[in-house]
Amino acid sequence: MRTSLLILLLLPAAVVSGRQAEPAARNVILFLADAGGIPTLSAASLHGYGEGRRLFVQRMPHIGLSDTATASQFVTDSAAGMTAIVTGQRTHNGVVGQGPDAVRGVKDGAPLTTILEMAEARGLATGVISNDALTGATPAALYAKVNDRNKTAEIFRQALGGAPGDGIDVLIGAGRPQVAAALVAEGSSLDAVARHGGRTVLAALDEVPPAATRAVVLLEDQEFDLGAAVAIARRLLSANPRGYFLMVESDTHTDSIRHGLDRMVTFDRVIEATAAAAGPDTLVLFTADHSFDLRVHGGMSGKPLLTGAAAERGGGMAGVRLPNVRMDDSHTGEEVLVAAQGPGAARVHGYLANTDLFRIMLAAFGWSTPPP
Ligand SMILES: [Zn+2]
Repeated sequence: MRTSLLILLLLPAAVVSGRQAEPAARNVILFLADAGGIPTLSAASLHGYGEGRRLFVQRMPHIGLSDTATASQFVTDSAAGMTAIVTGQRTHNGVVGQGPDAVRGVKDGAPLTTILEMAEARGLATGVISNDALTGATPAALYAKVNDRNKTAEIFRQALGGAPGDGIDVLIGAGRPQVAAALVAEGSSLDAVARHGGRTVLAALDEVPPAATRAVVLLEDQEFDLGAAVAIARRLLSANPRGYFLMVESDTHTDSIRHGLDRMVTFDRVIEATAAAAGPDTLVLFTADHSFDLRVHGGMSGKPLLTGAAAERGGGMAGVRLPNVRMDDSHTGEEVLVAAQGPGAARVHGYLANTDLFRIMLAAFGWSTPPP
């Protein structure tokens, strides 16, 4: 009797209460396939591997489905979609990092706190990577508060000066010509904003010095090596003993069908390699901000999924019908996949709201959840 009481006293509380204590995640990496809904994942597996369920994200140990609605619309854009994921609050289309009291382009709403800002405030390292513009709505939702996603110059100023702590440690993304032009149109320049923010804005991944602990890389071209960018970011961010938060976006819109599906296959390989390298103290989370109107309606094993010249054409197409795939150039409102591995991944199950992902990341870090 006395011995068993002693054993009980020595056991951790969580074991006594019948729950397995789970260690908090040191790092969280959020992989975001922009417009990479289930139709895109399904088609990417058929396109890249000739059969279904071959993507890494389709084989991750914990999966759920996430609703993607905004505060007011059934179908979201990247601004409202990503704001919901990284702040736990829904807003309206076009609005970045502000609450539903915002009116797009007219009136600011209440500023919302993001998971990246919470990480910065706690002294963790932070990073944002996108093969779309660094000032695009998806990456911007992590660091900017603007009532219109098209305010490129203001978003870039906030990228280099907005975040708490010592600011975002690693920023890597495309859109250098657009950002430079938007700043010049306001009588400013890349150099002026960089100087004001105390940062150097590099133009290529190989310009990041080997001894650097922070880096801003604004690239000309979207077709850079995303895997190399993630490896650089992880090397820099891992130097912080408190851990890091990193978001990696790949634009997988399939308005250009082959390009979008190739992007999804490549992104999936980057996720698999990162998950293997990151180790057991890292929550790796995959999702999409919204789905896209792509459907596989034919095809057979041993034959390529994509045939027909329209598979190669770019954007602005409505009602494209290839022999095996049809595509309407539109976001769609059905649920998207959430897939996860690592500490906190077990919370990913069932039908979730996009806002639940914020709470899942918070819980993985072991931080108290703010009221909804
Ligand atoms: Zn999007």
